[in-house]
Amino acid sequence: MATGEMTSDVVVVGGGFAGMACAAALSARGLSVTVLESHLGHDPRFRGELIHPRGVRSLQALGLKDALVAAGGVPVKGFAVSPAAGVDPVLLPYVNHWGEGLGIDHHAMVKALRREVGSRPRVTLRQGQPVTELLEEGGRVVGVKLRDGEAVRARLVVGADGRQSRVRKLLGLEPDITLLSYTVVATVRGPKLPWRGFGHVFLGAPGPILAYPYGDDLIRMCIDVPLSAPRGREPMRAYVREHFATCVPSPLREAMLESVEGDPFEGCATHSVYTKACAVPGAVLVGDAGGCSHPLTATGMTAAMNDVEVLAEELFQGVNDAALKRYQQRRYRFVRARELFTEALYEVFRAHDPGSESLKEGTFEYWRKSRRAREVSMGILSGEDSRPRTFVAEYARVTGLSALATLPDRRRTRSLLSTSLMRLNRTVERSVSTWVQERRTRLASRSSA
Ligand SMILES: Cc1cc2nc3c(=O)[nH]c(=O)nc-3n(C[C@H](O)[C@H](O)[C@H](O)COP(=O)(O)OP(=O)(O)OC[C@H]3O[C@@H](n4cnc5c(N)ncnc54)[C@H](O)[C@@H]3O)c2cc1C
Repeated sequence: MATGEMTSDVVVVGGGFAGMACAAALSARGLSVTVLESHLGHDPRFRGELIHPRGVRSLQALGLKDALVAAGGVPVKGFAVSPAAGVDPVLLPYVNHWGEGLGIDHHAMVKALRREVGSRPRVTLRQGQPVTELLEEGGRVVGVKLRDGEAVRARLVVGADGRQSRVRKLLGLEPDITLLSYTVVATVRGPKLPWRGFGHVFLGAPGPILAYPYGDDLIRMCIDVPLSAPRGREPMRAYVREHFATCVPSPLREAMLESVEGDPFEGCATHSVYTKACAVPGAVLVGDAGGCSHPLTATGMTAAMNDVEVLAEELFQGVNDAALKRYQQRRYRFVRARELFTEALYEVFRAHDPGSESLKEGTFEYWRKSRRAREVSMGILSGEDSRPRTFVAEYARVTGLSALATLPDRRRTRSLLSTSLMRLNRTVERSVSTWVQERRTRLASRSSA
């Protein structure tokens, strides 16, 4: 080792949600962890704030939930989804034994995590330290280099540097990235959501609006604006006023418009980032660096908690490449169902063609008729059930119901079936490619064992 080089068991690149959770999970298993975060303060970009019960349970297991509640987090009971302006919502509560979700200001959350995890034994948090390069020896990653040239060596490098991940790029793990839409953010103080303690989804506009409590008397609204909307702050403000306002009930509507027009403009692009691999010798990806979906289903942080939990379990048996391969295999099993569900739901909720419009009607009918349907959908959405076959079975049921309702109108039935077949085809393709990859991974870990 060259003089002046720092070492630890693990170096985590990125001190955001996933990076800090990862440091907590790995240090709890006895590993020394150095977290390198590029910003001195918080990353200014808007990020997620609603965590499903499964993610909250993982935070609790790592002793992090109390810090988030103390930082202003409030409980979330499930979702209320309104199909159109003036139509009663369908309530989709979390099942009691899952526990509650959590809504919290993202920057306050990351600050609280850094304070809590950064003070734990075996964790070193260094802020204002952008990682620019990887150190490699004999075909494996053995550390990273900071912008000022300092080298930090470790037995494992974890890329937790978000959806534009530099580590992913340096590892050559090229993803499929699709720009999906833009999110315009509104902050509302005062008016209440129609269903207290529930996240709300308002439909009927060109994109869904997700609204949720994220502190005492505070509501955040994420307005999903399509790519076809006019660019620029003022045209986008006007677009929201014209196309989205009517789908939100008063007095929330007026408060939303006041925020969009009066507050400093806050927004960001939404992407899907699809990766096929997240582990190479000496390095892995967690959180958004490993891939992400449209934020409609609010699953990014719950998936990140699954990543760090699985990684910690696998590394407990030894920090070696076989453990990284097992991590990769288990991670994709969890992630794929969520990706498929989010894509399908986004298509249905935007309802931009007669096929998805019919599927939307069928989905609401399905939910209104059956408590079981509501629970199964919420189970997939919130990560309680990560089996792709559950998603496929539910999708087939909704398609059947929707097709029956469209029968007198052949054009609509044809459009519905073609939308559904495309979706099922994609599901099968993804499931098969994940299965093939799993087989390969298994063989590879067996041969290296
Ligand atoms: C509009 C929107 C709404 C969302 N809503 C939700 C929601 O309600 N619920 C939910 O669960 N998820 C939601 N998400 C997704 C959620 O924000 C992400 O899943 C989550 O932030 C991922 O955390 P992360 O730590 O992987 O990445 P990030 O939060 O992006 O953090 C990455 C960190 O790495 C640092 N970094 C980057 N490059 C480097 C480098 N080279 N060196 C050192 N540090 C670096 C950054 O400064 C940052 O601190 C939403 C996303 C968007 C865009």
